[in-house]
Formats: sequence, structure tokens, C-alpha cells
Amino acid sequence: MPKPLRNLILVLGDQLDPYSAAFDGFDPLRDAVWMAEVAEESTHVWTHQARIAIFLTGMRHFRDAARAQGRTVHYRQLDDTANAGSLAAELLAAIHTLQPQRLVMVEAGEWRGARAIEAVATGAGRTLEVREDRHFLCPRAQFAAHAHGRKQLRMEYFYREMRRQHGTLMDGDQPVGGAWNFDAENRAHFGPGGPGPMPDPVTFPPDPTTREVLALVAQRFPDHPGSLKNFDWPVTPGEARVALRDFIEQRLPHFGEFQDAMWMRSETWFSDPPPRAQAYLFHSRLSVALNLKLLDPRIVITAAEAEFRAGRVSLASAEGFIRQILGWREYVRGIYWHFMPEYRDLNGLGATAPLPPFYWSGQTEMRCLREVIGQTNAFGYAHHIQRLMVTGLFALLLGVRPQAVHEWYLAMYVDAVEWVELPNTLGMSQFADGGIMASKPYVASGKYLQRMSNYCTGCRFDPAKRTGADACPFTTLYWNFLLRHQALLERNPRMTMQLKNLARLSSADRTAIQQQAEEVMARCQTSAT
Ligand SMILES: Cc1cc2nc3c(=O)[nH]c(=O)nc-3n(C[C@H](O)[C@H](O)[C@H](O)COP(=O)(O)OP(=O)(O)OC[C@H]3O[C@@H](n4cnc5c(N)ncnc54)[C@H](O)[C@@H]3O)c2cc1C
Ligand code: SF4
Repeated sequence: MPKPLRNLILVLGDQLDPYSAAFDGFDPLRDAVWMAEVAEESTHVWTHQARIAIFLTGMRHFRDAARAQGRTVHYRQLDDTANAGSLAAELLAAIHTLQPQRLVMVEAGEWRGARAIEAVATGAGRTLEVREDRHFLCPRAQFAAHAHGRKQLRMEYFYREMRRQHGTLMDGDQPVGGAWNFDAENRAHFGPGGPGPMPDPVTFPPDPTTREVLALVAQRFPDHPGSLKNFDWPVTPGEARVALRDFIEQRLPHFGEFQDAMWMRSETWFSDPPPRAQAYLFHSRLSVALNLKLLDPRIVITAAEAEFRAGRVSLASAEGFIRQILGWREYVRGIYWHFMPEYRDLNGLGATAPLPPFYWSGQTEMRCLREVIGQTNAFGYAHHIQRLMVTGLFALLLGVRPQAVHEWYLAMYVDAVEWVELPNTLGMSQFADGGIMASKPYVASGKYLQRMSNYCTGCRFDPAKRTGADACPFTTLYWNFLLRHQALLERNPRMTMQLKNLARLSSADRTAIQQQAEEVMARCQTSAT
């Protein structure tokens, strides 16, 4: 007689680590794994086809590897006719069929999923054991202790604590090189000549499992945004390690210097094939492997530090990169769990405009937005400054409802999981959390984009102009943003310089800016922008 099932180990699409705490004490004779592909996860926001595909193929590769290891995996495919369509319904059905004594999982990556699973477990009268997610270097309780009693949270202080705790880039108790960060050396632009020949990141051509998934996504979600044609992401732990090595050797040496720079060779995102190297520049493209837990952040951090210690990359590059992972990535996760669920509904600037339709198509005369959205549609990828200072900045200046901006980011990027996407969007980019994440709103005029990219070359607008037929919409809306929120911004010492410049405007200038801003806002809601 078969033994009754003891533990059913729940593995979600962003928990693809066979060594996670969920498998501690796993007994192949008494325990089994449960996974389900469900349509709800692809439709609760209008998800990019490549994002749907990466989760599904990552899960199927994990399932096959687990079975090869001798683990029993109960797996519901999306194309199974009995598929109930939601995580909750699928889990409930599995509990009825398998009758496990207990459910075990590691902490979920989003609040909504965690609550849904808890509700099912309670309803079915099953104990749910949620174990700490060891993938992260800062447990949720440690972040709560860090936040306790502080009037204000700032990433920099958190980062220093993490560096000390993990002995990363330290000489004894002092930071290597005598400074905690080299941010000032991380803001170079390419100059008129551009970046020159770029290393083409290693590709991972779809294997039969991925090809099957790509066909399924194309058939099930044909009207969803984005393209599947350029899908070449690492989908297994082995491939993720190859991608890491490729980054360390090819792009890390220039990462620090050019991490804020943007560049386009020509308007080719809509061409076939689009230029890959240009999409990634010197960035790692490791976020998706990290977020699906195919790659351990400790391995990434150690590899970058070793490269510096061996004299192959500068301290500015190694530190700039490590700060993103040991600092920002851990910090935003801490913020998410510390402030949810209220965090999701914050709207500190009272923004109410809808998201312009061109965010989905990229069809706009504004060349910077056309490029970044075009690239996002082609690859499901844009680098940090493209997200923050192009698509994010424009939505902020336009006054788009932050929850609509959040849903767009959650939908459009292959690396989007709510714990990391939401604080970056709502907090860092839209300043909707009133300054929990960022000490001031990241606002700039078109001149910032002119300095950091070549997008403005050939654009029909002039980044220096705030009014007139060829005024840059970013520049018009930037001044209008300062006017609209002047009273609030005056309380922020970090906005003093920007407000001093505002004070120099005559009342005629102000009226002209406000009128032009209204026209831009109205135009943005039509497809002819
Ligand atoms: C509005 C907005 C939304 C974002 N949404 C996401 C998201 O859904 N998922 C996501 O992983 N990142 C998100 N980010 C952060 C960042 O843009 C991406 O992590 C990065 O662009 C991924 O590309 P990469 O792997 O080439 O990163 P690199 O530039 O090579 O950076 C290295 C790694 O550092 C980490 N990292 C860098 N910046 C951040 C950050 N601000 N927060 C957390 N981790 C960071 C990532 O793991 C990344 O892989 C968002 C940023 C903004 C401004
Ligand atoms: S001029 Fe303005 S709209 Fe055009 S690319 Fe530059 S910043 Fe963007």
C-alpha cells in the first residue's frame, strides 16, 4: 500500500531553486512537489508574451530536472483541459486529490499570491508551513529590525550594514578604497561617437521545451503585447551561470562608468532582428535569472568582487554593480514586505491621468519613448535608467495614476515580480509613497535625456524648448510638474536648486507652460501623440 503523502511542496514560478528551504528534509518516499501553470498569472495584468514564456519554460525545466532527480512532481500544464485557471482553484483540487498532511513552501514573491495560498490552506484545513527564502541576503525580520525606530529609511545606510555583515568589498571594518560608493564615477555618457562596437551578450537559443512553450503562448495569448521572436533568456541554473560569466568577462569592466547611459544606433527596434547588443549595452541582463531563483545573488556578488581583487575591473565598476544587488535589490524587497499591503494603493501626488495608449504600442513622435517602448516590446527588457528616466519619468510628469503605471511595469518586463517591481515603480519612479524609497522625485527635463543619450538627435522636438510647436513634451511637463507641486516640493531641501530656477520664470512664462502642458496631456490620450 502506498504511504500517505506527508508534505506537498508548493513551488511557484519565481521559486525555481532546487536547494530552497522548501526542500529541507525532503523525503522522496513521503513528499511530493506541486506546480501549476495558470492563465490568471498571465492575465491579471496584460502580460508581455516573453514574460509569460519565461515563467512557463523555467517551470517546465525545473519540473524535468526534479523528476530526473527522483522527486515526484504533480504538475498542471496550461494546456491541460482540466486546468482550473487560477492558483487557488488548482491548489484546492490538488489537495482534494492528493490528501497531503501538510503544505510547505518558501515565502511567496508577492502579497496577493501569499494570501491566496493561505486562504486555500485554511479552507482545506491543512497546515501551511512557510519557510524563509534563503535566496535573499537580508531576511524579512532583519529588515524590519533595521527599519524599526527610524524616522526615515535610506538605501545607503542599509547597504553599508549589508557590506559589513557580509564582508563584501571590505578591508577589515573599512570599505575597500576608502569610500562606500563611487556613484559620481557611474554617470558617464557615450558622447557623440556612441559606445563603439558592443559585445553581443551570449544567447540561449530555445530548446525543444522552450519552443513548445513559445508555441503555446503564441496560440493562447496572441493579443498580448510584446514579441516572442527574440526570446533568448537563460532558463536553467546552468545557463544562468553561463550568462553570469559572459557578463563578468565582457561587460562588467565598463558597467560602472556607463550604467546610466542610453544609446540607439538607428530606429531598428521594429526591424527584424533588432540590435541585441544595443538593448543591453554594458548591463548584466541577470535580473530574470536572479528573480526566478535560477541564480544565487551570493555567487554573482562573489564573482564581481573576485574580478576586482584580481585587478581585472575597476573598483567603481565592481562596487557599482554589487550595490545594485547587495544594496538596491535587498532594500526594495525589505520595503515591499514592510509596507504591504497599504503600499500598493499609495498616491502621494494625487495623480489620476490614465496611462497613454502609446505605452503599449510605442507609436509616438517622442523618439526617446518610441525607442524604449520599442525595445521593451522586442525584448521585455530595458535597463534601469530607461525605466526610471524615460517611461517612468514621462508618466510621473504627466500625472498618471501610479497603480496604472505599476500594472504596466509588472506586465512588460521579463524580470517583473511584484516585490521588486512595485517599490521601484510606485516609490522610486512615481514618488507615490511620499518619499519612503526616494528622498526626492526623480524629475528632469528633456535636457537630461539629451545629455545621457542620443535619442534627441533627429527627434522632431527640441529638448531645450518648453513652449512652442517643437517644445519637448518632457521639458514642458517638467516645468509644469514643478508649478503643480511647488508647495509640496518647497518642503524638500533636495529640490532647492530646481525651485530656484522655477522662481526665475515670469508669470507669462508660467501661463504659457501651463497651457502647453494641457495640450500635451490631452494629446497623450489620443493615439496620434
Ligand atoms: C520603474 C522601474 C521598475 C523596475 N522593475 C523591476 C522589476 O520588475 N524587476 C527587477 O528585477 N528590477 C526592476 N527594476 C530595477 C532595474 O531596472 C532592473 O533590475 C534592471 O534594469 C535589470 O536589468 P539587468 O539585469 O541588466 O541589471 P543591471 O543593470 O546589470 O543590474 C544588476 C542587477 O542589480 C539588480 N538591480 C539593479 N537595480 C535594481 C533596483 N532598482 N531594484 C532592485 N534590483 C536592482 C538586478 O537584480 C540586476 O540584475 C525596475 C526599475 C524601475 C525604475
Ligand atoms: S526631444 Fe524630448 S521627446 Fe524628443 S527624444 Fe529628446 S527628450 Fe524625448
